[in-house]
Amino acid sequence: MKLPSLNTQILIGCLLGVAAGSLLSAQGATPLTQDTLYGAKLVGNLFLDLLRMVLVPLVFASIVTGVANLRAHDQMHRVWTTTLIFFLFTMAVAIVIGFGAAHIFRPGEGLHLEMFAEATRNYQARQMALPDYIAQFMRGLFQNPFKALANGDILAIVIIALFLGIALVIGGERYRNIRNLVTELQELCLMIVGWILRLAPFGLAALLLQLVATQDAALLGSLGHFIAVVIGSTLFHGVIVLPGVLWLMTGVSPLRFFKGAREALLTAFITSSSNATLPITLRCTEQHLHVKKDIASFVVPLGATVNMDGTALYEAAAALFVARLAGIELDIASQLIIFFVAMLGAIGAPGIPSVGMLSMVLVLESVGLPTEAIAILLPIDRILDTVRTAVNVEGDMVGSLIVQKIAGQSKAA
Ligand code: ASP
Repeated sequence: MKLPSLNTQILIGCLLGVAAGSLLSAQGATPLTQDTLYGAKLVGNLFLDLLRMVLVPLVFASIVTGVANLRAHDQMHRVWTTTLIFFLFTMAVAIVIGFGAAHIFRPGEGLHLEMFAEATRNYQARQMALPDYIAQFMRGLFQNPFKALANGDILAIVIIALFLGIALVIGGERYRNIRNLVTELQELCLMIVGWILRLAPFGLAALLLQLVATQDAALLGSLGHFIAVVIGSTLFHGVIVLPGVLWLMTGVSPLRFFKGAREALLTAFITSSSNATLPITLRCTEQHLHVKKDIASFVVPLGATVNMDGTALYEAAAALFVARLAGIELDIASQLIIFFVAMLGAIGAPGIPSVGMLSMVLVLESVGLPTEAIAILLPIDRILDTVRTAVNVEGDMVGSLIVQKIAGQSKAA
């Protein structure tokens, strides 16, 4: 019997996961529920661990190859600048949308902090002042390569790979053996990703089951307005703004884009991790969206670490939400500070689940808002992290297509 395509299998897996999760959540805490959740946790974690297994060699090899091959492309300067301008521009737009939505729909009005007083008391927020955060951020950038690779410290790995890639460009033909070695390492990692993807229907079903079965419905209800505003504005960015920019700049239709990108978007949605999704993002960008290997290898892994539109939007909207809960009207200066700190926080946040929460503390602190309010945001974060991460990943794929178009154009000129 011929199996349905991987996409159909993933879709069936997701539907089964949601159905089983709702069933379990309706059942309450029976032994069967516990056992099923335990099994789902094993399978879901296995899938994530397999993706993480290839992550570090893949990020490293992709960025080195991407930068080293930019030379062949003869467009190095243009690719760099377009990539960075695109990342900063779309994150800035995302923050403005987050602010706009929070101003227009005013989530938090009528909610009283007292109802969360208990949770607020119980939560020990990690306090870190802005100068400390910046100092720590800077120190983490440059590390012993072996330590960074062993610890899986992605931002440091990105920097080391950029250095090595640039050295290979400057060193030229003399170092072609190392260049070939790293290129082949990347190809092998992608082959392994292809195998891991066959498990995706099971892994994603198990993760979805857990997500649906363990959500606290009462809390979702009371914070429903805020959740709806954040999800709605993030979707607006992901469904209207990013595809609109893509269409304007490259002529690629949203339908064609989403068709090529769906595996990566779905995985990002369910795993809440840009990093865990990266192997799949790279595959979709190269194989389905037909971005050239040298561009995709550069833009996608870099974007997975620094380009986070969803996170930036969330932090801006959440800061205004917390201010409203605390009865504080933020002036323009404070909103500008939030703008920059949210951008810095999104750039510095590694692409793993719920890290947006850590930089959220920083955003709140930067304008003197109560960091304890994190206790309100944490319990609903798992649900918001889904859409946020999908849009983070979408930005990297859109960026690759735009960079390819702009760099390619100048070549033709
Ligand atoms: N989970 C997000 C990501 O991996 C980061 C965040 O928490 O905002 O892209």
